[in-house]
Amino acid sequence: MADPSSLIRGEIRSIPPYNAGLTLEEVRATYQVDTIAKLGSNENPLGPSPALRRLFSDIGELARLYPDPQGRALCTRLAASFSVDSRQVILGNGSEDLIGVICRSVVRPGDTVATLYPSFPLHEDYTALMGGRIERVPVTENLTIDKAALLAAASRKPRMLMFSNPMNPVGCWLTPDELAAVIAALDAETLLVIDEAYAEYAAGDDYPSAIDMLKGKDIPWVVLRTFSKAYGLAGLRIGYGVVSDTGLCDFFNRARTPFNTNAIAQASAVAALEDLDHLAQSVKSALTERERLKTALAAAGYRIAPSKGNFLFIDAGKNASDLAVALLKRGVIVKPWKQPGFETFIRVSIGSREENDHFLRALADAEDVDAAKSAG
Ligand SMILES: *Cc1c(COP(=O)(O)O)cnc(C)c1O
Repeated sequence: MADPSSLIRGEIRSIPPYNAGLTLEEVRATYQVDTIAKLGSNENPLGPSPALRRLFSDIGELARLYPDPQGRALCTRLAASFSVDSRQVILGNGSEDLIGVICRSVVRPGDTVATLYPSFPLHEDYTALMGGRIERVPVTENLTIDKAALLAAASRKPRMLMFSNPMNPVGCWLTPDELAAVIAALDAETLLVIDEAYAEYAAGDDYPSAIDMLKGKDIPWVVLRTFSKAYGLAGLRIGYGVVSDTGLCDFFNRARTPFNTNAIAQASAVAALEDLDHLAQSVKSALTERERLKTALAAAGYRIAPSKGNFLFIDAGKNASDLAVALLKRGVIVKPWKQPGFETFIRVSIGSREENDHFLRALADAEDVDAAKSAG
């Protein structure tokens, strides 16, 4: 066949393939390790609520029929919990699906989309796909959000201001006052998209629920959430957006595929919302383990970014991709960061206590081998 690349739009050709984490099978096959700590994708070590096991005994009937294209049972439940109209809630095949829907709906060639840097790759990739131009707001030297630069970017009236809070991969966040200042700097020409994939881990006095702060404000906004992280449903692919008004949400609904979320995912999400104990236990275990891991890593001399997520962004002080391979050989999957300026950082998910200990042992062992090499 002839080279198909001339058929494909330039925006797509210039997007690098998504750097998805390795699967257990890949690591087993490539590195011949038995016990693996999968700490590269921010999954929840507790998995889904036990309520899902009951649900899966009914799976045949759910599989047979088309799902509700609006996912009304789930949207109604979510709308009630945020005190919004259920027509302000949109479901996605993971929140990543909704990032694509939003970009397809609003980003025109040449439009500016401002985001934080280092970035969540899909915020940049879907923008690039639509021919938009990314404006990056880098974190400060201390690995916190540069509030002044973010406000300046907001006041330049980009088509869209899209970032995660808490911010992936670094873990930093905006406090209520800081978020209020960002909101005040925007006007109706800019769509504000706050990706709150880690909100459940961050909830507390110094972390705002953007939905509550944005309600009634005279700007267009979307807050994205997901069941992939604290609810432990990454494999089912379901996330949602709460949108400033029903009219805007209706347009977004037109830009998605009609059956973008499947019946099993919808029913699982409803069941997961009922099990608040499981959510609380997942969050508590992640926060306890995150602090334990931080203490151990700080004692070993690593620089670690402040984090409100279920992950830590760690400066290894050397090429992170090499370190990641050394960890793979010892059965641990982490994510080495590859964006310019951050090639010495790894992002490690907070796993179970056993997985985290596995990571700490593997890290110490990899460093020892390295030290022995440079000494010899
Ligand atoms: C994990 C993550 C997502 C993707 O969530 P899915 O619902 O699994 O698609 C979106 N945004 C950020 C910032 C994330 O870290």
